[in-house]
Amino acid sequence: MAGSTKRTFKNGDILIRAGERGDCAYVVESGNVEILLEREGQLIQIGTRGPGSIIGEMAMIDDKTRTATVRALEDCTVMEISRDDFSRRVESADPVLKMVMHVIMTRYRDLIGRTQALRFPHIADGAEASENTHKNHAAALGSIKIHNELKNALDRKELTLHYQPIIDLQKMKIAGFEALMRWKHPERGMISPGIFIPVAEESGLIVELSKFALDLACDSVKVLQQAVNPALVPDPLFIAVNFSVKDFAAGSFYDQIEGTLKRKNVKPEQIHLEITETLLMAAPEPAKTALEQCRKLGVNVSIDDFGSGYSSLSYLHHFPIDTLKIDQSFVRAMTTHPASLVLVKSIIALAMNLGMRVVAEGIEAEKEAKILKDLDCAQAQGYWFAKPMPLEDALKFVQNWQAPVISG
Ligand code: C2E
Ligand code: CA
Ligand code: CA
Repeated sequence: MAGSTKRTFKNGDILIRAGERGDCAYVVESGNVEILLEREGQLIQIGTRGPGSIIGEMAMIDDKTRTATVRALEDCTVMEISRDDFSRRVESADPVLKMVMHVIMTRYRDLIGRTQALRFPHIADGAEASENTHKNHAAALGSIKIHNELKNALDRKELTLHYQPIIDLQKMKIAGFEALMRWKHPERGMISPGIFIPVAEESGLIVELSKFALDLACDSVKVLQQAVNPALVPDPLFIAVNFSVKDFAAGSFYDQIEGTLKRKNVKPEQIHLEITETLLMAAPEPAKTALEQCRKLGVNVSIDDFGSGYSSLSYLHHFPIDTLKIDQSFVRAMTTHPASLVLVKSIIALAMNLGMRVVAEGIEAEKEAKILKDLDCAQAQGYWFAKPMPLEDALKFVQNWQAPVISG
């Protein structure tokens, strides 16, 4: 798939010609353009667009010809969004959203057609004026920009994983690691997954990112396992990989997991799947089947951010779940808000009663570790033990492991 392309147009150049089939849209980055409609052989200006506007998007949505001509009023630079890229976004959009988009487009084309026929350019002008709301679409455009760059980031090896240790609180040994994605952007530095993962989820690119994460996690777990001192880390290490709802939409989730484990020669118990409650609610049936198959294979299924999302607990017995990861917000508030402590206690008791394991996330202080240990919480993860780190550092961490002392 083509990446983002910057294009420049000189004053007077035609960016888009009415009647031609559109295969891309443009986001104006600098300069101004004019929108022209033909009337009785003459081009009439019905509006102008400046930086931040999107032009030519209609023909991409419904695969029809351009309704207007767009001409540069001065030298311009634009970012091109290819039809491929656009189709992929449309394909991964909510079906209702898709339908509404098509209805709006049909009505809009109809309106333009009628105004042209009736020769009332001012009505067309009004319709176009409403398009000025595009200027308010900065967030959406920002997301397209990140998406375009993210597509290339995989090929350019700008994406990697950092690993945060998960500690067995009772034995005070390393149990495994969580793989957390990092994007080393050549100009913008390290970009947080909090920014690029939602964009990848929206555009469907997450499926490729997840494949990459699973592959790399399989390689890394073998490297880390080889480095451990069995006296210090007796059980096989695991790496927990985060997955999103779109990963299950393709319908081949289980095949991908099984295939990758086989190809990489990794034991199923060495990979944990981390998914959120929201994911389970968004894709109940396909997710359930895929997760049941994964679990049968021996892959652990963990519910991430437990307690922060869906309020019903009924899904706990509906889905195959091995581990609950208590959301950081409860751990953070545990020492200051008695209600949060009660919640943490209840989640640990709930997990124990259901035969599930509990991991507490976001431990930043010794006293938090102590409370959780005393509550019989099985595992913990947080900056107090270690921050997420590159593989080289995780190797050193494993080799030089010294259990931190929890006093009191
Ligand atoms: P998450 O899965 O809940 O991951 C835990 C986040 O909490 C990580 O943020 C981690 O660095 C941070 N964290 C760990 N311990 C502490 C602590 O003691 N204090 C504080 N304040 N934070 C702590 P990070 O790496 O920025 O990742 C953010 C989120 O991005 C993740 O939340 C996850 O939802 C998503 N994400 C990261 N990597 C991937 C990935 O490969 N695939 C998918 N689908 N999502 C990912
Ligand atoms: Ca996680
Ligand atoms: Ca989490």
